[in-house]
Amino acid sequence: MDVEEQYFKAGKIAAKVREQIKTEVKPGVKAIDICERVESMTKQLGGGIAFPCNVDINQVAAHYVSPIGDTTTIQQGQLVKVDIGVHVDGYIADTAVTICLDPALAPMVKTVEEALAVAVKMVKAGVRASDIGATIEHTIKNRGFKPIRNLTGHKLSRYIVHAGRSIPNVAGYDLHRLEEGEVYAIEPFTVLSNATGEVRDGAPSNIYRFEKKRPLEGAPKQMLAFIQQEYRTLPFCSRWLLTRFPGPEGVKAFSDLLTSRCIMSYPQLIEKSGGPVAQAEHTVVVEKDGYRITTS
Ligand code: MN
Ligand code: MN
Repeated sequence: MDVEEQYFKAGKIAAKVREQIKTEVKPGVKAIDICERVESMTKQLGGGIAFPCNVDINQVAAHYVSPIGDTTTIQQGQLVKVDIGVHVDGYIADTAVTICLDPALAPMVKTVEEALAVAVKMVKAGVRASDIGATIEHTIKNRGFKPIRNLTGHKLSRYIVHAGRSIPNVAGYDLHRLEEGEVYAIEPFTVLSNATGEVRDGAPSNIYRFEKKRPLEGAPKQMLAFIQQEYRTLPFCSRWLLTRFPGPEGVKAFSDLLTSRCIMSYPQLIEKSGGPVAQAEHTVVVEKDGYRITTS
């Protein structure tokens, strides 16, 4: 399989999982069941998990992943973002959908989907990332909402979710031009016009990544070797590790890896004014004269 085929295989799996989970997110469902369902469907369909499934409710824009024993439950009136990462041999598909359980917020969700559609249509070799950002901002503001300015889309590369270059969600100075064959996740976020339109770092997300190797002994050593072998440079969550290394010994080893900075923790990203956030995301391949969406 060539590289592009692998991206499309990952995208097809991610899209199937997204369309299925959309029908299952309802009041009374637990966040942890959504995470586990997404992760198990991904494996069943032959994909690898590129990052733990995010279930981001209301003002949480990104990076909420259920820990072991999470009791967080979906409720009527919420905006629920499910963000899914699938890989095939390291080639990643990144896609997200907002499930709207508050009819009053439906126009904001529709707007973020439209902004994504408009942005994707601009993609071709030679287009400036800042021009896409300007169009996203314009589309969202035109409909009476606001984009989140400090979250961006991003380039994907093999086993790397954020591969340097970005696609902003506002006009600005990101002047790099898209190149043929590059793969990007494009992901606008919308908030109400009276919200700040920025995110701040919140509580730990339960998402981690390998940082560096250190001389270790015993359980922490085994755990770090497992992380490197299993997840490489991809993000992982505490729920997976503590299932694989159960009991107090696992908890101790995990905390040792954190304090010795062998692994690092990502924060949740929270809308500064506490307002509800909607998100839409697709992965696209840049072509000479256009684009192909891998996750549709
Ligand atoms: Mn995503
Ligand atoms: Mn993304």
